Amino acid sequence: LVELAAVSKTFSGQRVLDDIDLEVERGEVVCVIGPSGSGKSTLLRCVNRLETPDSGRVVVAGVDLTDPDCDIDAARRQIGMVFQQFNLFAHRNVLDNCALALRTVLGLKRTEAERKARDQLEWVGLADRANAYPSELSGGQQQRVAIARALAMDPALMLFDEPTSALDPELVGDVLTVMRRLADAGTTMIVVTHEMGFAREVADRVVFMDAGRIVEQGTPAQVLGHPRVERTRDFLQRVS
Ligand code: ATP
Ligand code: MG
Repeated sequence: LVELAAVSKTFSGQRVLDDIDLEVERGEVVCVIGPSGSGKSTLLRCVNRLETPDSGRVVVAGVDLTDPDCDIDAARRQIGMVFQQFNLFAHRNVLDNCALALRTVLGLKRTEAERKARDQLEWVGLADRANAYPSELSGGQQQRVAIARALAMDPALMLFDEPTSALDPELVGDVLTVMRRLADAGTTMIVVTHEMGFAREVADRVVFMDAGRIVEQGTPAQVLGHPRVERTRDFLQRVS
């Protein structure tokens, strides 16, 4: 579903992504771990072209995003993204947050858009908060709305960039539970996370990045349980 080939990106002389190759199969859950500044967010942002690589190819669902002639809006409709900061529309209620893009981007009628939005809110356990405003919700609830909003578009791929890092510890579990259910439902996901427990239990593959390179990847048991590379071992020792 996703193919990155020889992707590189430099910011003001610093090589933030250095010749990255990565393929993700349909239905696969890939967790990306690594130290701060190793390029995890930049990698994710290249997958939906929030960043444009300097070189290399990024293909998602058969569309070459690095082709300047590609229809980027159509391609992005296939890709849902959830950030550390929830990025909800503060002046719209929960239902509108989820229904808006269905109307403006997919052109659904209001009733149809709201029906789909309600279905997704129910799925993340927030059907009863449809009329609330984001400021009236906990961080964990806001993040679940952000997930519902992304899912409402029925994306082929979900990208998560540290979705629980901004949450109080007691709110992390609910969000991880929703993500785990998504994974169980067969959703293709790339998840940047510091939640090693989640990576261990949910990931099909763990990718360890350092200094813009994929240093090591494999099953959670391999990478987290028996890391072959010194830098992976160092990192895991520091985060555990
Ligand atoms: P963290 O765990 O802290 O989120 P990360 O692995 O996600 O880190 P990136 O955000 O991808 O790391 O950043 C990698 C490097 O690229 C960092 O040194 C960062 O300062 C730099 N960088 C990222 N985005 C930009 C930008 N838009 N302009 C300049 N430098 C950037
Ligand atoms: Mg980051």
